[in-house]
Amino acid sequence: MSEAVLEVRDLRVSFAHPLGLVRAVDGVSFSLAPGERLGLAGESGCGKSTMALAILRMIRPPGRIDGGSVRLDGVELSVLNEEAMRRLRLAGIALVPQGSMNSLNPVMRIGAQIEDALADHGVSLSRTALAERIADLLETVGLRAGVAASYPHQLSGGMKQRACIAIAICLRPRVIIADEPTSALDVVVQRQVMETLARVQRDLGAAVILVGHDMGLMAQFVDRLGIMYAGRLVEVAPVGQMVTVPRHPYTRALISSLPSLEHRGGLQGIPGLAPLLRDLPSGCAFHPRCSLAGERCRIETPALRPMGGNAVAACHLAEPVA
Ligand code: SF4
Repeated sequence: MSEAVLEVRDLRVSFAHPLGLVRAVDGVSFSLAPGERLGLAGESGCGKSTMALAILRMIRPPGRIDGGSVRLDGVELSVLNEEAMRRLRLAGIALVPQGSMNSLNPVMRIGAQIEDALADHGVSLSRTALAERIADLLETVGLRAGVAASYPHQLSGGMKQRACIAIAICLRPRVIIADEPTSALDVVVQRQVMETLARVQRDLGAAVILVGHDMGLMAQFVDRLGIMYAGRLVEVAPVGQMVTVPRHPYTRALISSLPSLEHRGGLQGIPGLAPLLRDLPSGCAFHPRCSLAGERCRIETPALRPMGGNAVAACHLAEPVA
């Protein structure tokens, strides 16, 4: 695999809470190859969106980044000053945030919002060149150039989400982080937006981190999938391998809870609830919900171990695949 475009090492984020410290991201490490598509999945509150914000140093009080390293093309981001970080957002790493289509300014035309993003990063073009650049960007995401003159309320949900992707890619970032980019869209539009994201990503040669909880959608889009539970990565594997031979009991439970046309009947849920991040169970945080949990699981926190074929999993009982 080519050298990583993004390397995250031992990233830790916590939030101060009157009842105790909430460890939202607890020692997460992974790397991303140029052009790779990595999915991060898990139940709500598992820390995946917080991690996306932490990569961009966008955690606001009462949250804080407690430690760890994030490198983009070998450059350590934790030592950059605020101005350098502001410039890097969008130009180096672009975020399509959760609910981003609602973050469009309702009283600005789409073209003006793209123009703002470019100007904010020091791009200065003639009126004609700017209009061409905006038209190109809109066409890249499958929108007519005329959409530049529209206000957000004149667009459908799918069109607004594509406009957000156009803004995110306006400076040709090396990495795109898309946080639940299709939530609140119907399934047909979801698919169209994901196809747009895939095409844009290929054209730019950018790497993508797709954050979400829809394992089915993820499996169709990503190359590699990371499963998060209680602020930690519990399994990372190439998507085909994870779907056919999941190593972690939580991954297996997530896959079993997916609806399937082949196996009709009742859906299999995951017993219990995700734990409170300020009051995690001892040992393996999944042990109160795991049918395989033993004494060791209640005492010792499992570390990620190689499972063969580029996969890692954090479970005392997981066995590497030959
Ligand atoms: Fe289950 Fe134990 Fe593995 Fe945790 S370490 S997932 S409790 S078997």
